Amino acid sequence: MAYDQTNIFAKILKGDIPCNKVYEDEFALAFHDINPQAPVHVLVIPKGDYISMADFTAKAPADLITGYMRAVGKTAEALNLVDAGYRTLANAGENAHQEVPHLHIHIFGGKPLGPMLD
Ligand code: C5P
Repeated sequence: MAYDQTNIFAKILKGDIPCNKVYEDEFALAFHDINPQAPVHVLVIPKGDYISMADFTAKAPADLITGYMRAVGKTAEALNLVDAGYRTLANAGENAHQEVPHLHIHIFGGKPLGPMLD
């Protein structure tokens, strides 16, 4: 499957659509989810044309993979979630209800979270 250059997160990365930014560096951008499912719900996306975790880990250079994962941790720190705890999740494909075909790691927090799958 080819990367869709017109997806909403590609437009956010290009600056064509605004976002409520939490953290940004050369590797990643983190912003508040527009439809939060927890008191804190942030998405962290890599800077590059990657559809899913499998696509990213197969194709991205090692420095981007490292930088992206570090950015997830830095975003959790920026949100003051490290001591309280938080959840990360990345949906991939149809069965997981991935809506936007650009890799994104969700960060959920701000309350006690329930069982992982419901
Ligand atoms: O993992 P999934 O692809 O289902 O998640 C997409 C997420 O992107 C949703 O939580 C949705 O609310 C969010 N979104 C957003 N801003 C948009 C479009 C979608 O935060 N403009």
